Order: sequence, then C-alpha cells, then structure tokens
Amino acid sequence: MNIHEYQAKEILRKYGVTVPNGKVAYTAQEAIEAAQALAGPVYVVKSQIHAGGRGKGTFMQASAGDKGGVRVVKGIDDVGTNAGQMLGATLVTHQTGPDGKEVKRVYIEEGCDIARELYLSILVDRACSRIIFMASTEGGMDIEEVAAHTPEKIITVDIDPASGFSGFHGRKLAFALGLEGKQVSKAVQFMTAMYKCFLETDAAMVEINPLVVTGEGDIIALDCKMNFDDNALFRHPEIEELRDEDEENPAELEAAKHSLNYIKLDGKIGCMVNGAGLAMATMDIIKLYGGEPANFLDVGGGATKERVTTAFKLILSDPNVEGILVNIFGGIMRCDVIAEGVIAAAREVSLNVPLVVRLEGTNVDLGKKILSESGLPIVSADNLADAAEKVVKAVKEAA
Ligand code: ADP
Ligand code: MG
Repeated sequence: MNIHEYQAKEILRKYGVTVPNGKVAYTAQEAIEAAQALAGPVYVVKSQIHAGGRGKGTFMQASAGDKGGVRVVKGIDDVGTNAGQMLGATLVTHQTGPDGKEVKRVYIEEGCDIARELYLSILVDRACSRIIFMASTEGGMDIEEVAAHTPEKIITVDIDPASGFSGFHGRKLAFALGLEGKQVSKAVQFMTAMYKCFLETDAAMVEINPLVVTGEGDIIALDCKMNFDDNALFRHPEIEELRDEDEENPAELEAAKHSLNYIKLDGKIGCMVNGAGLAMATMDIIKLYGGEPANFLDVGGGATKERVTTAFKLILSDPNVEGILVNIFGGIMRCDVIAEGVIAAAREVSLNVPLVVRLEGTNVDLGKKILSESGLPIVSADNLADAAEKVVKAVKEAA
C-alpha cells in the first residue's frame, strides 16, 4: 500500500527523522492558512499524488500553468494562487501513465535552502534476503536513470537482521554520500531513525529523494515515498487508515474488499483459480498454449458463492477479457459451490465471452451437473492442459 508524501513525512517525523515543516490543504483557502502557520517567505506547493516525478510533470489543463507539480513560491498570495491552479487539475508524470492523476490535496512546506541533493532509500532486497540501504550522490533525479547508466554511483549496505543497524553502517553510507564533519553524525542519527521506522511500520520501502544537505549543514528528507507490506497491514490500523482509494486500481481495490487476491495483467484470458500456486501454474499453461492471462486471481480456500460471484464480475470488468478459464481444485472449496457462483455471476453480467471450466475434487460430479444443466454455453474441461488449450482456441475462434 502506498501513501502520500505528507503522510510519509508525518510518520518519519514521529520517528525523529528530520523533515521540513508543512501542512496539507484541500482548498486554496486552506493552503493560505497553512502557509500562515509556517515560516516564510519562501514556501513550496506540492501536488499530492501517488507518483514520483511531480516536479518535472505537466498539467493537462493550461489553467494550471506550466511550472510542474512542485513549485517554490515567494509569499502567501502565491501559495494560494498556485494551490488553486493545481487543485482539481490533472498532473501527468513519467509514473502516472498518459491519463495522469487529479490533484485533490496539496502539501504546503517551508522552503529549504538546498546545498546538495542526495538519494537514500531502505527496502527489502530479495536477492540477499535482507534489509538494505541504497544511497547515491545523484539525488533529486530519476534513480532508475542512475541505475541504468551509472550503476557505480549507487552503493548498497545490507543489514544483518540479528544485529540490526549500527553506527558503522551509517558512517559507511555517510562517507559514500560525501558527507563531512558534523553532517556524518547527523546522517547516522537520521538513518538510525529511518531504520527503526521501516522495521516498526512493516514498510516495504522508504525512499528519500532528495535527501538534502542544507546551507547550514543539516540533513533533511525533502521528499519521501513510502509503501507498506500489505500482508502486515492488519497490524497497523493507523496506517491502513491512510489509504487513499482515489489512487488505487478500482478492480484491485474491490478485490481486496472481498479478500480476493487479484492482480490485473495485460492479456485476454481471464483466470479464476483457487490457490496461488495453481493460479500461477494456470497462467503458465495458458502461455504455453499461446495465450496471455488477463489477470492473476486466487479466490482462496474457503470462498463462498458470493465471493466467487464477485471474482467473476471482477474478471469481466476488464474490457480486454475475451475468454475466461475457471480452474478449481475442490479441497476445502466444494465444486458445487463454485459451479453455483459461476452460474449466478454469468447470469448477472450476461456473459458474452467463451467460458471454460475445469473442476476437480470434492463434489466434482455435482458441480459438473450444475454447470451442464444451467443452459449456459460453458465448455467443460477434464484437466489443466485440456482447459488451457480449449480456452486459447475459443478466444482465437471468437476473434
Ligand atoms: P518529485 O520527486 O515528485 O518531483 P520532490 O518532492 O522530490 O518531488 O520535489 C522536486 C524538487 O523540488 C526537489 O528535488 C527539490 O529540488 C525541490 N523541492 C521540494 N521540496 C522542497 C522544499 N521544501 N524546499 C525547497 N525545494 C524543494
Ligand atoms: Mg522526489
């Protein structure tokens, strides 16, 4: 789960990571009031969307001006004007896709006297199965570009989970960032707090770009992107509350509400499967037969008829879907329940793409009987390969 910059900074602040003073605003008037409560005369008006590259982004509406989604302004009047321009306008950045994102909140922040812009992030590295810090002197810009063209400018330090983060990790990073004198101990303090924050919130990534050295030699997080391990969110209701549904894929959001594991993909064949392993095998075999899966969908072990119906509707809400493969192994889940869910959903949404169903396991005969007596044009398959072959063929024929 992602959160907004201003929310991430509030969390960082709680852990003692230095961030500039700022306030969120939903209207131009609130932006002015926010600025009045902050130290001027230089303020920064920052569009809050779940995407990076805002500074270099462009607004779709000419009325929003051409100065990007992060603006350094002088004086309170300009805060109001710029906030008013951004709010309600659509910001396009290299991370939003061509449709962009509507700005519904802005963050008003005190202007910072920047001496150097650095990069610092913390994340879980699957390759070494550890938490790592990544740091680079090339801050402020696209770290993906740095990684692609000058990977030697990114250094990583991994942390042994048994002993945790220590001063020497911090000093190694600080020296790599070219910090000197008092900046080093400030950076170590900063990183220690950041590490604690990462661990205790079950974050998946905290990215600070830029990490700034100020004119006075302070170390400050000027931007922050933070996301969390969805599987640990149940431990953090206060973080779950920060979810901004406007920023999420509507189908994936709906799926999460029904405890369905759904991930949208780009192919044409919708899949409904029970169990993550079987779902992956199903996607593999669809590809083996020359098709492309439209989604990953695991309906889970104890799905009810309602959940199956929801799952089915989710698959069909994707306009790219030209055929559906239902592949269920009835263990805890009974095949007759699946059959009833499939039929109920097919009727409700007036199914107009080929549907191949492969059922196996508990109550399989009853399940197949329910399907065949439904009067719906459902193609029955006997095994996984047969099912994949049939659905790929049906989609090709329908095209
Ligand atoms: P994004 O990464 O989405 O473009 P940032 O928050 O990194 O957004 O802002 C882009 C740039 O704007 C920063 O690299 C920095 O130069 C400048 N900036 C951001 N916040 C401030 C601030 N509080 N004071 C001064 N400059 C800022
Ligand atoms: Mg940034």
